[in-house]
Amino acid sequence: MERCPVCGMELYENRANEFPTMHLGQRYRFCSAEHRDEFEATPGEYD
Ligand SMILES: [Zn+2]
Repeated sequence: MERCPVCGMELYENRANEFPTMHLGQRYRFCSAEHRDEFEATPGEYD
């Protein structure tokens, strides 16, 4: 199960494509636009 890298919440398939971003050639997905923006602001803090 893929998880939101910011809060660790499980991402279900029907929601996982709503907030994608790319970082260092890898695709990340998030539970919410807020967590995507948080990740994009400081991508080095999340692995
Ligand atoms: Zn989250």
